[in-house]
Amino acid sequence: MAQRVIVLLDRLSRLTRELQFVDGLNPAQWEALRYLATANKYSRSPTALAEYLGATKGTVSQTLIALESKGLITRCKKTCDRRQVDLCLTDAGEAMLAKDPMRTLERAAGEMASELGPQMVKGLTRLLHDLQNRHQVADFGVCQDCSLYCVNETAEGQCGSTGETIATVEKTKICVNYKTTN
Ligand code: SF4
Repeated sequence: MAQRVIVLLDRLSRLTRELQFVDGLNPAQWEALRYLATANKYSRSPTALAEYLGATKGTVSQTLIALESKGLITRCKKTCDRRQVDLCLTDAGEAMLAKDPMRTLERAAGEMASELGPQMVKGLTRLLHDLQNRHQVADFGVCQDCSLYCVNETAEGQCGSTGETIATVEKTKICVNYKTTN
């Protein structure tokens, strides 16, 4: 069974990689756009992106330069710390992401029998976490699943790492500082 899983994951990965050479972008550039659309305010930096992609800072830098030259992302200084860079999608970046070639896979997954979806998510999540642990790769998750998330005395969500209140819109975004509850 394990061998079959490896073959299927490998074939899916090759196929989805091929799908992403489209609209003048490559797979790494698409993945960076997807990441920036879902990353929270602590995670929209080149360093966090490199960690998420498991890529070197040099490789990520090339990806960001390409996206910037196409007008799909922009860099701005963080208001809380002017030394740090915040990466954001431009309107053109949002429009490009609306044409994400991975939507083909999303549609195919959506058409599977309803009982299969949750089982697949569970199995693939477990496989991913196992590999991340073995190779000491950072996990990225959202506030509601994070061991550092708490609710303060005024019933607002708060980050136990930074002490900051978390806006509702940020709670569903992935975070580089996420700590698993397991
Ligand atoms: S609670 Fe966890 S996931 Fe949420 S911002 Fe803090 S470290 Fe990140």
